[in-house]
Amino acid sequence: MTTPNMQSITVLGSTGSIGVSTLDVVARHPDRYRVFALTAHRQVETLLAQIRLHRPRVAVLGCAEDASRLQKLLRTEGLSCDVLSGPEALESVASASEVDTVMAAIVGAAGLKPALAAARAGKRVLLANKEALVMSGELFMEAVRQGGATLLPIDSEHNAIFQALPLNYAGDPSGAGVSRILLTASGGPFRTLERSALAHVTPEQACSHPNWVMGRKISVDSATMMNKGLEVIEAYWLFDAAPELIQVVVHPQSVIHSMVQYVDGSVIAQLGNPDMRTPIAHALAFPERVDSGVAPLDLFSIGKLEFEEPDFERFPCLGLAYRALRSGGTAPAVMNAANEEAVSAFLDRSIDFLRISGLIDAALEQFPATAVSSLDEVLAADASARAFVRKLIAA
Ligand code: NAD
Ligand code: MG
Repeated sequence: MTTPNMQSITVLGSTGSIGVSTLDVVARHPDRYRVFALTAHRQVETLLAQIRLHRPRVAVLGCAEDASRLQKLLRTEGLSCDVLSGPEALESVASASEVDTVMAAIVGAAGLKPALAAARAGKRVLLANKEALVMSGELFMEAVRQGGATLLPIDSEHNAIFQALPLNYAGDPSGAGVSRILLTASGGPFRTLERSALAHVTPEQACSHPNWVMGRKISVDSATMMNKGLEVIEAYWLFDAAPELIQVVVHPQSVIHSMVQYVDGSVIAQLGNPDMRTPIAHALAFPERVDSGVAPLDLFSIGKLEFEEPDFERFPCLGLAYRALRSGGTAPAVMNAANEEAVSAFLDRSIDFLRISGLIDAALEQFPATAVSSLDEVLAADASARAFVRKLIAA
């Protein structure tokens, strides 16, 4: 039997780092959460193991062949679960009437349409897929308003800012007495490396983050600091904060997850161990609190907290993101697409690390910002930037 407060959840990208952490929190509270749908791109075996444990009604895979393979495996085990495939199936499980809450944890532009579908359908949207907001912030926030959705940030910094803002914050920083948003950054694995040494770093080094265990794409984004750039744009849309209000603060310990500074001199910070189950549990239970499985913060073993200014010279991606945000329109979508292509080429060892920012810069030069009034315009900008960057890489 289900209780009246039982939330029915779709986890988009359930086999990824955020997806797995989400299911870990969900499994701790069977009285509160029931899984409606799980989705993965290609990881059939991981998805099967998750289905055994969480018994969703629907599962989605990227292609029909994988879906029919999963169907066969489920049949052999006597498990019943509808298996669908393709991008439209993602939108359908994100907007299904049986669903209350959608965890949007697909990586990259592929997550945009299903996250939008959840927003339009008025779901409680737990947004990890920052690329969706970066690409189409205006359309996304409009879909949230029109659909009557509740948007809760999962990105640890934005979740921290959300917690440090007044509960009734309605997107007016100065009205709320906010003078600055202090967005913390670990600085990534190459924080102290000379620029010349950055030319020789490998994907393995880029993916071994000092504090967080994450998917490969976001790990490289952390290493270039494009992750922080994407997060500046994310903060702009989520909190209606002008770019000059958002300051990046390098904080190597990743214990403070971000801060809000007020006009009276107060700075309110959210602290915790670097474990994504904290923001996930916060958003799942909001406005209540539930156990996340995260160990309590031990301040004595941490000892000290440090802060540094970001280095825009060694990490040009951060400046590129501010530039794209100020240009507006299609620029952030162009930047995001160029970044996704460049990161994937770096992970394939087709380009070196320093080329990532060069390719994004070239794409922003090639496609001057134009105003955005529809999703098609965003997707066209995304496609042109990808084609352009791929051509540069192949040349
Ligand atoms: P990941 O690579 O570990 O997982 C990505 C998930 O998306 C997987 O389930 C994968 O199967 C699915 N997926 C990938 N490509 C797809 C496609 N084309 N179509 C459908 N599904 C697809 O990534 P992650 O680290 O869990 O990150 C997910 C999102 O959350 C990203 O947008 C990332 O920026 C954001 N985020 C992650 C963290 C973290 O700690 N990992 C923190 C903050 C924000
Ligand atoms: Mg983050």
